[in-house]
Amino acid sequence: MFIEKFKVDSPNVKYTDRHIESLYQYETTELVHETRDGASEWVVRPKTVQYNFKTDVRVPKLGVMLVGWGGNNGSTLTAGVIANREGISWATKDKVQQANYFGSLTQASTVRVGSYNGEEIYAPFKSLLPMVNPDDIVFGGWDISNMNLADSMARAKVLDIDLQKQLRPYMESMVPLPGIYDQDFIAANQSSRANNVIKGNKKEQVQQVIKDIREFKEKNKVDKIVVLWTANTERYSNVVVGLNDTSENLLSAVDRNEAEISPSTLFALACVLEGVPFINGSPQNTFVPGLIDLAINRNSLIGGDDFKSGQTKIKSVLVDFLVGAGIKPTSIVSYNHLGNNDGMNLSAPQTFRSKEISKSNVVDDMVSSNAILYEPGEHPDHVIVIKYVPYVGDSKRAMDEYTAEIFMGGKQTFVLHNTCEDSLLAAPIILDLVLLAELSTRIELKAEGEDKFHSFHPVATILSYLTKAPLVPPGTPVVNALAKQRAMLENILRACIGLAPENNMLMEYK
Ligand code: NAD
Repeated sequence: MFIEKFKVDSPNVKYTDRHIESLYQYETTELVHETRDGASEWVVRPKTVQYNFKTDVRVPKLGVMLVGWGGNNGSTLTAGVIANREGISWATKDKVQQANYFGSLTQASTVRVGSYNGEEIYAPFKSLLPMVNPDDIVFGGWDISNMNLADSMARAKVLDIDLQKQLRPYMESMVPLPGIYDQDFIAANQSSRANNVIKGNKKEQVQQVIKDIREFKEKNKVDKIVVLWTANTERYSNVVVGLNDTSENLLSAVDRNEAEISPSTLFALACVLEGVPFINGSPQNTFVPGLIDLAINRNSLIGGDDFKSGQTKIKSVLVDFLVGAGIKPTSIVSYNHLGNNDGMNLSAPQTFRSKEISKSNVVDDMVSSNAILYEPGEHPDHVIVIKYVPYVGDSKRAMDEYTAEIFMGGKQTFVLHNTCEDSLLAAPIILDLVLLAELSTRIELKAEGEDKFHSFHPVATILSYLTKAPLVPPGTPVVNALAKQRAMLENILRACIGLAPENNMLMEYK
């Protein structure tokens, strides 16, 4: 059974005009290694930590500025939100299709809230806490190509033509602001696109981005802005002591117009200086240590890296299932071919390398969780191949072969073939990233022993369900397994309204 919304009735939860406040018992464990009578043993002590959560319920008018707005993802997302907002339907060869938000965790998934008369009751994920309605987002952003969004949508060849015709009047007047172009960081094959670029040195470019954000906010009368990088994948920046390793060094490197500071780092820097959340949807190391340092010092939200949309999402389910079942994946080989501009950009070795790195580390946490299967330091063979095949356009093919060792030396091989439009997978993920980033800036918490409420850590691990290579604060475990990432997010939002984590015990029926 489905309910649209609900309210929590508990002595530990208070709803006011401004806030939802909850008092929450976080059940965890404390591990100690003790030596008794000469023998050492691990001792696990259950531990309860009391938290207070306070969520501001005033939902802002939100502006979302995309870097790479005119790309396949940027134009598809903008088009999709307009189509939803305007209630547009269009004829396909199969049926009359209605706009929807399928693929969005916040808009199209549900959470279990309990049992009623022996039936499981589900509510929309978005009903957990007050969130921005995506239909109300004002979109804008930058692109190194000056093409308007209607033409960008046509160039992307993602949406049905009847839909494009209906959307064109809404999108023709949307023109991206000039972007920061540095041909050293993306493939040479992108140069013909770059006709809309911010001039000046790096410091002036950062100042221009800050000015753009302020003017967009003013012009559109939005209360808050989130900026998200969905521009081309860049090559990795070299991390060099004295250049980008600390916030001071990064800022003075920008002043000196140092070549190794990438456009994405400049955009992120502008956002951190302006206190605007910045999310990186591509694989490169935008968040060099100096940038992370600055974001932490200024308590400005950063999150990334690289949307977890297709092949990696399945990998983070499949390998978790295998290792969790006591089966040992020994070889994972992932082939991709795609024919959109992202594929063309990734055909250069340096940009491909960024993608290869972000796709490769995704099974690490699952492998290291099971020392019964893997010796210390042992790892499955893991190979990633990406090829550019123009004909298939945005319809990416992902072919994976997983080989695993089973009982008594047996082998099990899985082969997967996935075909679908890449941008239709990424667009709802972008939406979730900006909605959840905005929400998380309205949540404050306080653990027992702390005297003041504070925000979450500025490195937003809460977004990790949506990213291939989750950025975490130094010294924090990286979780890639999809079910764990979803549970983390859902359970934190539940905690904010005083609900216990979903433990799937169903004791009511035992
Ligand atoms: P795209 O090439 O169609 O769009 C990128 C846009 O960025 C282009 O319009 C380009 O002109 C613009 N651009 C490049 N450098 C810029 C800069 N410095 N400033 C402003 N604009 C700039 O690519 P896409 O398919 O939309 O993908 C965007 C990014 O998302 C890629 O890096 C891709 O790897 C990443 N990504 C996509 C998916 C997916 O499923 N679609 C998944 C994970 C990551």
